[in-house]
Amino acid sequence: MIDKNLLDILACPFCHGDVKEKEGSIVCLKCGRIYPVIDDIPVMLVDEARMPAGEENEKKE
Ligand SMILES: [Zn+2]
Repeated sequence: MIDKNLLDILACPFCHGDVKEKEGSIVCLKCGRIYPVIDDIPVMLVDEARMPAGEENEKKE
């Protein structure tokens, strides 16, 4: 479980949108990127983020 106060100060490193906890991950409300949580520590790195299902073809190399 992620600390609510921690969630409040976290922001998406990609778009700086607000994030929320969902199914043990951190989800950006703006761009939809999904950040992993490892040992209760959110990994807020664009490189570690997954795109939501259905938007996989929006690849930028
Ligand atoms: Zn975002």
